[in-house]
Amino acid sequence: MTKNIILLLALILIFSFSDDNFSHQYAQSITKEDLQEHLSYLSNDNMKGRLTGSREQKIAANYIAKHFQANEIQPVLTWDDTTRVLSYYQSFYIKEYFGGRYSPLINPTIENVQKKGLIKSENVLGFIEGTEKKNEVIIVSAHYDHIGTQDGEVFNGADDDGSGTVAMMEIAQAFANAKKEGHPPLRSLLFIGFTGEEQGLLGSDYYTQSPIFDLKNTICDLNIDMIGRVDRSYKKNHDYIYLIGSDKISKKLHLLSEEVNQKTIHLKLDYTYNKESHPLQLYYRSDHYNFAKNKIPIIFYTSGLHDDYHKSTDDVEKIDFDVLLKRSQLIFYTAWELAYNPKDL
Ligand SMILES: [Zn+2]
Repeated sequence: MTKNIILLLALILIFSFSDDNFSHQYAQSITKEDLQEHLSYLSNDNMKGRLTGSREQKIAANYIAKHFQANEIQPVLTWDDTTRVLSYYQSFYIKEYFGGRYSPLINPTIENVQKKGLIKSENVLGFIEGTEKKNEVIIVSAHYDHIGTQDGEVFNGADDDGSGTVAMMEIAQAFANAKKEGHPPLRSLLFIGFTGEEQGLLGSDYYTQSPIFDLKNTICDLNIDMIGRVDRSYKKNHDYIYLIGSDKISKKLHLLSEEVNQKTIHLKLDYTYNKESHPLQLYYRSDHYNFAKNKIPIIFYTSGLHDDYHKSTDDVEKIDFDVLLKRSQLIFYTAWELAYNPKDL
């Protein structure tokens, strides 16, 4: 063999084992069947609409935590009241004010004596530590709470935000598989199921005021809220997703996201709702906004509003699992690029 041929073979080897190729392998572990199984559980009538503070919200939290545990995704060091604990739960208290306004208590010890009447709830967190830039954290988030029941009707919230929750769970599993098989990320990844979103982004409000990992080293938040449906504008071509906020804090994140999509899933990326002045004001309406307020780059992924939004008819039967899969894989690839090719944003 000549030196050139050896060199050529070496190059072929290097390229075939690059992290990019590994990303395709692990993207395939996100499947329609798994998304469907998790979503059927979370949006079943038994879950009574996962109202913040309810027994069923806690059952949903446990379901996500068990999934993290089964995949060897790590718990985080957090507080339960005044005790330091290693847990998948970041617990906190919510106070209800007159007129149905809510806010999280940031320092519960002050109010310890008055805990009566407070709602206790939980963010669910799973952590995969990076090898080279351990302190730098990429967050993938979705809220798992919904709005409960009204007059005996269950608001299942299959799309809002069961769809984002199961996407987050499957993306976490794909990264966990990569780590287990000897391909850990260079940056750390934090997967968060937020509670209290429907009452005013409470879980992310609490997290950003009492972060587990320093916000200064939080690279970005990829937040997923309602990605399982097809709205009126896309009846013919389902392969789209709305991106909001990607260019507001870091243009580099926007470019990276565009490039990843071109190299992988090829969805139509629609920026209709990106303007802060858009009448629907979507930029302010999910958990990423609490990160954006803190100048942390974000991307908010959504398939948009529909006729079943915040109705008892937001059911699993209406989810388009083909496109939910593609959207989940796109977010996985974007997080992969950020975690395995860690450039500044
Ligand atoms: Zn939502």
